[in-house]
Amino acid sequence: MRRTRLLLALLWLLVLPLAGCGSSARQTKGKAVVLGFDGVDPDLVKQWLDELPHIKKLSQSGTLMPLGTTNPPESPVAWASFATGTNPGKHGIFDFLKRDAEHYLPDIGLVEREKPEFLFDAIPIKAPKVINNRKGTPYWKQLDQHGIATVNLRMPLELPAEELEHGRSWSGLGVPDIGGTWGTYYYLASDLSAWDLSENSNTEFGGRQVLLELDGQKDSLFHAQIEGPTDPRKTPEPGQSYRIAIPVEVERNQDSTAVSIRVQGQEQNVSEGAWSEWYSFQFDIGPFVSAQGVSRFYVLETFPEVRLYLMPISFDPADPPFPISYPEEYVEDLNERYGTFKTLGWIHETWGLNEEQIDEEVFLQDLFRNMDSLERTLLDEIDAGQASVYSAVFTATDSASHMFYRLIDPQHPRYDEQLASQYGDAILRVYKRMDEVIGKVVQRIGPQDLLLVISDHGFHTWRREFNTNTWLVRNGYMFLKGMDSDPALKKLDHMFSGGSFFPNVDWSRSKAYSLGLGHIYINLKGREGQGIVEPGAEYDQLVREIRHKILQFEDPDNGERPLVNAYYYKDIYTGDNMEHAGDIQLSFKTGYRTSWQTALGAVPPNIIVANLKKWSGDHCASDIEQTSGFLVSNRRVDTPNPSIIDIAPTLYKEFGVEIPQRVDGKPISFGSVTVR
Ligand SMILES: [Zn+2]
Repeated sequence: MRRTRLLLALLWLLVLPLAGCGSSARQTKGKAVVLGFDGVDPDLVKQWLDELPHIKKLSQSGTLMPLGTTNPPESPVAWASFATGTNPGKHGIFDFLKRDAEHYLPDIGLVEREKPEFLFDAIPIKAPKVINNRKGTPYWKQLDQHGIATVNLRMPLELPAEELEHGRSWSGLGVPDIGGTWGTYYYLASDLSAWDLSENSNTEFGGRQVLLELDGQKDSLFHAQIEGPTDPRKTPEPGQSYRIAIPVEVERNQDSTAVSIRVQGQEQNVSEGAWSEWYSFQFDIGPFVSAQGVSRFYVLETFPEVRLYLMPISFDPADPPFPISYPEEYVEDLNERYGTFKTLGWIHETWGLNEEQIDEEVFLQDLFRNMDSLERTLLDEIDAGQASVYSAVFTATDSASHMFYRLIDPQHPRYDEQLASQYGDAILRVYKRMDEVIGKVVQRIGPQDLLLVISDHGFHTWRREFNTNTWLVRNGYMFLKGMDSDPALKKLDHMFSGGSFFPNVDWSRSKAYSLGLGHIYINLKGREGQGIVEPGAEYDQLVREIRHKILQFEDPDNGERPLVNAYYYKDIYTGDNMEHAGDIQLSFKTGYRTSWQTALGAVPPNIIVANLKKWSGDHCASDIEQTSGFLVSNRRVDTPNPSIIDIAPTLYKEFGVEIPQRVDGKPISFGSVTVR
């Protein structure tokens, strides 16, 4: 037992009820397997159906059809509706980000975090805590309360994992890396400039640039510092951060084709163009507590420069600081059974590829490894046969589609014929791997059993970025400081900023702003920190006006109208958890999306810019009607337009559990049970 565990074990015992001491699970006549594949597009499946034999076979004897999504068709929103069977107005998740209305800042939207507390900066007296922002009861909890055992693998937004009497859960999308982000990779290089190393080069969606400094004595030896979690005992001043760092040594081998990488007593020799095995990273938080992480290096170059990629550091499954599974020991058992794996929710290396630190091949090697690992756990769990409902969510389909859409869309600014000849089939390859998983699960399905394969939304190409805040400025809804001194607005461009978090915004005159992936918020009096718009008639009129006007906007380069819809939130949501909903939810036609800069509250000069990033496919601010996911089942579905919100009530009906009143979805009705 490591010292963290020794000290925190007692604390956890105080707050965690004991697992597995309840009555035994109910025997059911059949089982259900629910396979989630994030972002699988029904049109692409149709197009490639001949190459997906297991899906094709199920489509002939059972069902292949579109599955309705949520508004917006964004993964956290849709998976929250999947889990709870409720609309976003009830589960309260509207985006990856939520806004801090007091300070106009974006924040991670999925969980609240409470820091651990220490006595004398050393003795832990309170363990760190995360609180799920998803409201309502996930189906695995509801089924559990009726004696139905479930196994739930990499469940999105299941953080912390809910206590179950009969089953087990492992948290997926939403689990942060050791630094508390969705995945900050490290790029270590011996030739970084001062600009590369400045704070400007580190973005919310990027990585940390780390200088490999040449040793004073030995010209083949380099030193670097890897920064991990912030020190919870310290309160940083603005612009400061107290991250705990550990040293790394990299030594170039004699023939310069490999390097030795040394971290805290571990040493591996890794060739250029190869991955290391797992490394452990121990970040000490005072003398008694440490945060344990795991990651792997990829050696990009050994000569003339030394360049390494280090994946975001996951919490060590052998020793997570807060429960990322239920029972808490479940991930530790998986770790013992299968060896180390990533616990990070956003599991694939999208940011490293998007910033072009790693290439397509390296990205895919890691992605398929992650898929293999989850498949193995899933199949072993089904074979063990201890539950009635098995659910698992794979996100490789989504990550690959985000990164490779440019290579199936010749009109994308980043289309590249050479790359397309090598990786134009990357999305298809991941779909084929999905099809293999489905095939192996089908072998384990009997005539009494129910198989539901679903995706949470579809996909679109993303060629052009829409800067929503810039549109608001250009249309007089947002004001930047200094605009008055230049009434002709000739120098307006000087006032915009490529940075983030609303630089120069004059809140005393701004009526609206945008944050996240498609929301416009009204600067409402009494709600926003410096709100100026009166609730009632003024608010209603403003919402109507912006909705009307933004739909008329035309892309100056091609005359297209990027916006399909601008929804008023009360028209699309019902419920008691609408605090984080945008007043207006934008939806874009295929080819367009809100810019990354808008997502983080920036105001760059142009309304429309070409998307020059490898992140080239998207869905997050697309229209609900055009972005359905897919549904495959071993049974024939009679319901004409099923939606992801219907999955939870379908399982309730299947296992004879009364559907709670709060649930908005309706059970899907099936025709005859199909025998393979
Ligand atoms: Zn996605």
